[in-house]
Formats: sequence, structure tokens, C-alpha cells
Amino acid sequence: MFCNQCEQTAHGTGCVKTGVCGKDEDIQSLQETLLYGLKGMAAYAHHARRLGMVDEEVDAFVEEALFATVTNVNFDLDSHLELVLECGRKNLRVMQMLDQGHTKRFGTPSPATIYEGTKAGPGVLVTGHDMVDLADLLEQSAGSGVNVYTHGEMLPAHMYPELRKYPHLVGHFGGAWQKQRVEFKQFTGPLLATTNCILIPPESYRDRVFTTRVTAVPGGTRLTSNDFSAVIAKAKQCPPLPDAPVRESTIGFHHSTILGLADKIVAAVKAGKLKHFFLIGGCDGAEPGRNYFSEFAQHTPRDSIILTLGCGKYRIREHDYGTIELDGAGPIPRLLDMGQCNDAYGAIQVALALSKAFDCSVNDLPLTILLSWFEQKAVAVLLTLLSLGVRGIRIGPAAPAFVSPKIMSILQEKFDLRLTQADPLADLKEALTPPA
Ligand code: SF4
Repeated sequence: MFCNQCEQTAHGTGCVKTGVCGKDEDIQSLQETLLYGLKGMAAYAHHARRLGMVDEEVDAFVEEALFATVTNVNFDLDSHLELVLECGRKNLRVMQMLDQGHTKRFGTPSPATIYEGTKAGPGVLVTGHDMVDLADLLEQSAGSGVNVYTHGEMLPAHMYPELRKYPHLVGHFGGAWQKQRVEFKQFTGPLLATTNCILIPPESYRDRVFTTRVTAVPGGTRLTSNDFSAVIAKAKQCPPLPDAPVRESTIGFHHSTILGLADKIVAAVKAGKLKHFFLIGGCDGAEPGRNYFSEFAQHTPRDSIILTLGCGKYRIREHDYGTIELDGAGPIPRLLDMGQCNDAYGAIQVALALSKAFDCSVNDLPLTILLSWFEQKAVAVLLTLLSLGVRGIRIGPAAPAFVSPKIMSILQEKFDLRLTQADPLADLKEALTPPA
């Protein structure tokens, strides 16, 4: 492989025309970071567009950013870094559109106690991020005798009044995407995947897999319209599900709910009853090392609150963290599930509101952010946090392979970006140690 500028020297050895090889590893690293961030943002923007939310400035940025990655158009590290951060700023806008679109269409969210497991009778399991698909399925299956369940990132659907008003949205089944091959085999009805994070299905259940629009898997049935009659018909043909309760859980701590308690939270901090906030979330995955997040969360002190979102929540939500007493509001759970990974927008609103209440910057709050990353949306969320100047974020369980050593050291210097250490308790101790 030769440099694509001079076509004489090998990639990475220095172009004889420009002195900079067309494949400089740091430029390449920033371009890959930008492309992954754009992909994650595009997925969110696609869901937002279906809710009627678009922004011309976001679309224009996508063109500009993709153009910047065209071979040889730009060799400048600083302008690439700026584009990467701009991608984060634009992703904040996209997550805001998604938040507003959900609330406008499905009502103001509120906490909900939900049934986990299955109920006797035919059922459809809906996974992924697209709540418009879920709403259409619920409407079309009303009165059919077919129950509907959420899976994975669809869990937060239960916090919206216009979705939970359907009595046949009976509960939730299963956990994060990497467990699909076990859970989808157990769930005997059709499986409806509304976004990425669907594993290629094995023979045993591929005839029950339906996907929507861009989502497609070999052996599955891809639906290109919002007509879910084939899914409902399949549910009636499949063996019925058993009555098998697993547990009840409380979800739905949207930022509007948490901000409604802001004065009580501030009072608890001032009274010394609430000392620290943790944001632990992002994308879950199958590789070893992710128990870090479970262990970290389980050891957080009782005078702290944990905010969680994304399917990273499945690493930490099994544990009972107890409650914390807020004067005037009674006990609230210490673990507050804010929603999908795009609800990082809400976590940012909470952090900004707290910083305003305490008249300090977000970086001066007693707040620790642990981001478990796996795919492109987690990259987009990380870029958003960096673009807001948030420092000291810990990412894990490993460094992203596309970030070169030099780019990592720039991010460490500019944003104090940290990798999770092998010992979660060492990180926790560090997080709780006040700055000197
Ligand atoms: S949090 Fe990430 S890995 Fe999990 S379902 Fe959402 S995009 Fe996929």
C-alpha cells in the first residue's frame, strides 16, 4: 500500500510531495472517531426524523464532516479535532430533538413500576430504539389478544403515558443485546428489531425475527412499511408464552422528573445527606472486564445517587441499592434509570441544573461519569460530553482501538479523559477523594 498523495512512499513513511503521508495515523484516528460519531448521531437523527424533528444545521454539518474525511482534503490535526468536537455539539442537538420528539408524541414521562417476565398467551418482543415502531405495533395489535413486551433499549418506553396506556403492553423481558441468542430462543413469539444492536440470528429462531427499515439480518423478515400485520399473525401461530414472572422494577426517571426534585436534591446536598452523584451507563458488551461497572456501582456509598442509561444499565440494575431520603419528597431509589443512551441529553440537563444551583461548573460538582462504550452511539455521546468541556470522564472497559496514542494523550491533556483501571474500588476511592 502506497501513500495516496505521492503514490511513491509506503503509507506512514512520509509523502514525498507533502511531507505528510495521506495515512498519518493521528489524522486517521481523528477521521475514524469522526466517522463513528457521525454514524451514532445519524442513528439518533433517523429516529428523531420519524418523530418529525429535523435540523438543517445538523444535516449541513454531516455533509461538511464527511467531506473532511475524503482522501487528501485535509491533513490538519487541529481542524480535525475541532470537527470531532463539533460532531459532539451537533449530537447534543440531535439528542435534544429526540427527547423533545418523544415527549411531544408520547407525553411527559414519569416513573413506572413494570412487570418483568412473560404472561400466559401469545406475545411479541420489541427491541431497539425506535418508539414509533412500538407505538404502531401497539395500535395495530390492540384487541387482538397478542401481548407486547419490551426488550433491551426499549425498556424506557414504559415511562411514556401514550405508550403505557395500552393494556397489552404487559411488561419487559430480557437484558442487553449480547444476551439475545439465549433470550430470543426462550421467548417463543416473534421478535421485532427496530434498530441496530441485533445479533445475526441462529437457525433456531430466525424465522421469528422481523426488522424495520434499515435494520436487516440474514434469514429475518425486513419490514419496509409500518404495517405489522405479519408480526401479529406470527404471534398467533407461535406457541403461547407461559405465565413466568421474574420480578418488578421501577424505571422512568426522565430529566423532567429529576429536575422536578431539584430543590430537594440541592437541600439534601447542602444538609450533607447526599454527597455524590454517579452517572454509570452507555453500551453493554460481551467481552470480559464489564463486571467493573457492576462492582463499582455496588460499592458506591449510601449517601450517593447513581444515574444510569443505555443498555449499560443491565450491568448494574440487578442489585438493590436501597433508597435515599429527600425531605419533602420521601425516599427515592438510589439508582435512577433515566432511559435510552440518547437520554444522556437528560443527564446533561441535570448536571447543568445542579451546576447552576451550586453556582459552579459541571467539573466542580461531586459528579463521576463512567461511560461503558461499545458502538458508535457511545462515541457520539462521549464527543458531546467532551464538546461541553466535561473533564475526568472514565471510559472502559478498554481504550477504543481507533484512538491513536497521540490522540489519546491530547484528549487526556485537554479533558482529563481517563481509562477505567483494573480495580474498580481504586477508581471509586479516587472519585470520592476531594481534590487537594
Ligand atoms: S446502549 Fe449502545 S449497545 Fe446498547 S442498545 Fe443502545 S446503542 Fe446498542
